[in-house]
Amino acid sequence: GVSQLNGHLKPRYVRVNTLKMDVDSAVQELEKHYTVQKDETVPDLLVLPPGSDLHAHRLVANGRIFLQGKASSMVAAALQPEAGWEVLDACSAPGNKTIHLAALMEGQGKIIACELNEERVKRLEDTIKLSGASNIEVCHGDFLGLNPKDSSFAKVRAILLDPSCSGSGTITDRLDHLLPSHAADNMNYDTMRLHKLAGFQKKALAHALSCFKLATPFPQWQRRGLPVFSGSEHLLRMDPVEDKEGFFIALFVKTDKLDNQKS
Ligand code: SAM
Repeated sequence: GVSQLNGHLKPRYVRVNTLKMDVDSAVQELEKHYTVQKDETVPDLLVLPPGSDLHAHRLVANGRIFLQGKASSMVAAALQPEAGWEVLDACSAPGNKTIHLAALMEGQGKIIACELNEERVKRLEDTIKLSGASNIEVCHGDFLGLNPKDSSFAKVRAILLDPSCSGSGTITDRLDHLLPSHAADNMNYDTMRLHKLAGFQKKALAHALSCFKLATPFPQWQRRGLPVFSGSEHLLRMDPVEDKEGFFIALFVKTDKLDNQKS
């Protein structure tokens, strides 16, 4: 089937939840059944052979590892939050990146996890519970409605913004492009949806940007932003073909903290 086909295209990535288990113990445990390598870009990410099915694995069920792709795992890693920081996750459900932030912050400091959709807030809460993180404050609401100058955000050092998107970069993971309904008569719908999403992303980015400036995640990574504006060299792209999945990262740092930054 298609999942088998996809299994051959891409390795299975597994992120170790370092709040519950250290990376070496996870490697030891998984090596009983799989060939395991550490990812070269993200320290808490492991690479298993394509097609490895871990959905029913004990370590998944008890929240010691999470099935999270490489591109998705690069986002919180790019942010490099420090233990004790306060971080705002603007569009957080189902919470994969929220709990990655919590792990990188070693369970210290605070993460404010904002999510608009009520059903998805429940999924976010389930993920947080499974992760064992205790420094995440869930905020059910519209990120665009948050006032960055509000005193409750005064200590926020960083915003992780992962807005709703078309998902076209991860299309090989999903089956919807094979459904007959996803054909020519849906073109208008798709175009409208893309415009709506792009509009929301632009607003969300402008809102997040009101106190931040672009920085350069993974400076050694070659594929940067297309030269459509000055500063695009800070942006990081992953190519759907050459890097096996399409993704995009922009890293912003708070402007008044810029002078004190190490990098
Ligand atoms: N970061 C998540 C993760 O790694 O698990 C995935 C986030 S998903 C791409 C985008 C999320 O943003 C959705 O859950 C959606 O409901 C939420 N969302 C959309 N518009 C929003 C808004 N205006 N304010 C807050 N959340 C919003």
